[in-house]
Amino acid sequence: MALYHSPLYKDALAQLEEAASVMKADPNIIDRLKKPKRAIQVSVPIRLDDGTVKTFEGYRVQHNLTLGPGKGGIRYHPDVDLSETTALAMLMTFKCALVGLPLGGAKGGVKVNPNELSRQELQGLTRRFALEIGPFVGPDKDIPAPDIGTDRQTMAWFMDTYSQIHGYASHGVVTGKPISVGGSLGREEATGRGVAYCINFAYDRMDKTIDNNTTIAIHGFGKVGMPAAVDLAEQGAKIVAVSDVSGAVYDPDGLDVLKLINWVKGRKLLKDYHGVEHITNDELLELDVDVLIPAAIDGVITKKNMKNIKARLVAEGANGPLTKEAVEYLSEKDVFIIPDILCNAGGVIVSYFEWVQGLAHFFWDIDQINKTLHNILKNAFAEVVKKSVHYKVDMKKAAMIAALAKLEAAMKLRGLFPG
Ligand code: NAD
Repeated sequence: MALYHSPLYKDALAQLEEAASVMKADPNIIDRLKKPKRAIQVSVPIRLDDGTVKTFEGYRVQHNLTLGPGKGGIRYHPDVDLSETTALAMLMTFKCALVGLPLGGAKGGVKVNPNELSRQELQGLTRRFALEIGPFVGPDKDIPAPDIGTDRQTMAWFMDTYSQIHGYASHGVVTGKPISVGGSLGREEATGRGVAYCINFAYDRMDKTIDNNTTIAIHGFGKVGMPAAVDLAEQGAKIVAVSDVSGAVYDPDGLDVLKLINWVKGRKLLKDYHGVEHITNDELLELDVDVLIPAAIDGVITKKNMKNIKARLVAEGANGPLTKEAVEYLSEKDVFIIPDILCNAGGVIVSYFEWVQGLAHFFWDIDQINKTLHNILKNAFAEVVKKSVHYKVDMKKAAMIAALAKLEAAMKLRGLFPG
């Protein structure tokens, strides 16, 4: 069935079942969580610059809305399908529950290669997609955000389309907006900053400190990887390798992160960057570094390469970059793994702040944002460690247990409608 085929969905289900069995969760609740509450498929026709009309497939999946309105990104990528979108929506349910946000889990996307469309075509695609899923989203229903292949501009077009339909400027309908249309300070860097905070919490737990001997490799130098690199380099760490879809750059003495960011922001590929050694994405993952941050896509550390991973700390910046098998193997080998639903939760946490600010029409300063983000992640990290010790399980299972415990309690209190 279309819903079940993706490896990410199978992995998410296996994680759910395992956590449920360890904590002896109510099977009725688990049965409910295996499937999304609502999955919408839409057709998105747009007129291309050459005058022809092309129709794309789009999805919005709301996995669970017990804790609040749906929250989750919109992805523009050729691999987007119902199964992957559902898996990502499910991960959002657990992520929001874990860090204590009053939000449910959702995700959306369009099966498209955004690099093949002009700006005008992308605008048309976004506006039509916003119209098609419009009846199901809104500040009290489901609040999209950027993901792979989408950005602040995409969110501004989405917000404008929704606002045009409703006749007023709706700040609460999407997050990840530019500041000038109701975005939040700190949102763009939030996921990467959260990754850096979590690495610090893990280092504390490992009785280590980040200094200029700490070596870090980052797979995926995008919206998550870049700000994580900036924060960690500011703390003195050596960012020895970063990559994009074209390949990786490597310098054992540490790369110039800001120069690389300027390169990437100039829409240039890392394979064309001069003055450093070039290696493959696979070689980057297997470097002998202290910290590895897989921050590109899912399923990059698997049965095939897990035995070659040398980093002692792996921070899951992306969603599902390690398969279940790889997490279990590496945890057995005492590699500290910061699970995705904790490690990359900074984005949804500051998205939550953006939503709250949009609803209140009152905006916070950056110190308040960073301080509150730090506190929320610190408490969530401590809770995951506590569950890991209590149930004698790895951090990945512990994160799922912590999230599931909160969700189970809320679902039981709200009960079943109509009964
Ligand atoms: P992005 O598009 O900004 O960056 C992705 C990076 O990975 C780019 O450098 C790209 O070139 C590279 N990449 C893409 N495909 C690749 C491949 N096959 N092999 C190697 N590299 C590849 O995306 P992003 O927003 O940084 O998201 C990255 C991951 O983090 C995704 O899994 C996303 O779901 C997750 N995530 C993002 C956010 C956020 O706030 N942006 C929040 C939570 C989770």
